[in-house]
Amino acid sequence: MEESPYIVKDTPGKGKGMFATRDIKRGTCIISESPLVYISKTDLVGTLQALNAMSKKNKKYFLALHNSYPELPQDVGVIKTNGLPLGSNSLDGAVYRVISRINHSCAPNVCHSWSSKLKKENIFAIHDIPAGSEILTDYLDRLMTREVRLKTLAAKFRFTCQCKNCVSESSEEFDAAVNRIDECSDLIMSCATFDPRKSIGYVREALGLIDKVGGWGKTTFYYDAYQISARHSNYMLAKEWADLLVESYRIEEGEEGEKYERYLRFSQNPKSHEMAGLGGYVNLTGA
Ligand SMILES: [Zn+2]
Repeated sequence: MEESPYIVKDTPGKGKGMFATRDIKRGTCIISESPLVYISKTDLVGTLQALNAMSKKNKKYFLALHNSYPELPQDVGVIKTNGLPLGSNSLDGAVYRVISRINHSCAPNVCHSWSSKLKKENIFAIHDIPAGSEILTDYLDRLMTREVRLKTLAAKFRFTCQCKNCVSESSEEFDAAVNRIDECSDLIMSCATFDPRKSIGYVREALGLIDKVGGWGKTTFYYDAYQISARHSNYMLAKEWADLLVESYRIEEGEEGEKYERYLRFSQNPKSHEMAGLGGYVNLTGA
């Protein structure tokens, strides 16, 4: 049997953490795990029933997880500390024996995604990870300035992040980039219809800034650029953007991933978007 690519062990100041046991290539699925228990923000009775229905073994794993809320009943504290949504923005979530041990970094080397088909949470390497390194995910769902990030992590997860981005002497460059990326997002939308060339320019600016600061979150920009190109009948360009989008999701979620499957058709046939061609032709070459 192949050796597991990770080990869970104690990590100074952070309880337990997950570490690479060998070099892990970008795009590798490090672990695919079924939940210990499902939880729901909208169905507390159901959550309670699920907690009661857990096997003895699973309950033991559950109660051994870290609890940042000792003043609350332990079940509630463990859920608040370790629960992950079933896909971004979902009000339903789950707690995992292993995946819930992965610590946070604002410069993560993995991302997680829920597969409703497999009913499993998957962790994919988004960078090459050398053997011995800690495997780290970003608990936040978008890039934020250092001040906002630290406040959000302290409020939601009760820790002070010590990642390389948070302890670096100056965060001015990073923060300026994050603010400009947010501005670009708004500008892309506001120009998309009447000045699509400008819109594509803002996409490129945002992508350049993400690269510059080693950030993440390019897929939304790839998708914007694909839609704008397809809407304005630039199907060669639309395909290039769709290819980048699909490749990113392949790395983040694998070929079994729902987003990979959902967007693959745009790469195979860039005209298949419902808005394709509706904006008339505008030459976007070189934009
Ligand atoms: Zn940090």
